[in-house]
Amino acid sequence: MTTLLIATRNAHKVGEIQAILGADFHCLTLKEFPDAPAVIEDAETFSGNATKKAVELARWLSSSSLITNHSPLLVLADDSGLEVDALNGAPGVHSARFAALDKTENSKDADNNAKLLRLLKDVPPEKCTARFRCVIALVPVTCGKIENASPVCFADEFEAQIFDGACEGKIQANASGQGGFGYDPLFVPDGFTQSFAELGEDVKNKLSHRAHALAKLKNYFSKLPT
Ligand code: IMP
Repeated sequence: MTTLLIATRNAHKVGEIQAILGADFHCLTLKEFPDAPAVIEDAETFSGNATKKAVELARWLSSSSLITNHSPLLVLADDSGLEVDALNGAPGVHSARFAALDKTENSKDADNNAKLLRLLKDVPPEKCTARFRCVIALVPVTCGKIENASPVCFADEFEAQIFDGACEGKIQANASGQGGFGYDPLFVPDGFTQSFAELGEDVKNKLSHRAHALAKLKNYFSKLPT
């Protein structure tokens, strides 16, 4: 069975990814690797940040002696966020720290949501179109091969497979619902009248940006030779 290290410290994301992947994969989390380096997400694209997270974690694991009996092991990193059309795609890659863009740490979800509603207060409801986007990078951990590798070989070892997904919807004028995380109480997916936070995890995990990206990842694995 393939083992995936889910390289995110966001417990909500880990839960969603594990629920969507199901029993076909053995999932490890960063809880099992407390010394894993924190990766600074300073790329300008979701793909750049997801790749950076996956490569840095794979590189760290490959050069550590922590991995001995997993075969094969891959690092899965998710970078995701909300794009609002009336805000020219903001908060985008800055979704986690939208309310504190001048600082490096993430903001509280409630502060991010309050800022979003403030910026959209004069925008008519029909113009509040938005989408969640998710990019997943998958990088194999190649134990013991790195120290002797040439730079080219090194780059090859850490080539990422990229899987993306999006979920279209609208931002509503008031938060509703208790489920999910982040902008879920404000986001109403197309075809629904309730927010992701009201719809609950079973519904969200079928139609979310993360579900679409992970469906592509599952399809990729299903086509690999056994
Ligand atoms: P990341 O950890 O840098 O990928 O930040 C992702 C941020 O985007 C989160 O902190 C949330 O604010 C937002 N986000 C991503 N996916 C979701 C989701 O499924 N629901 C709500 N907010 C999300």
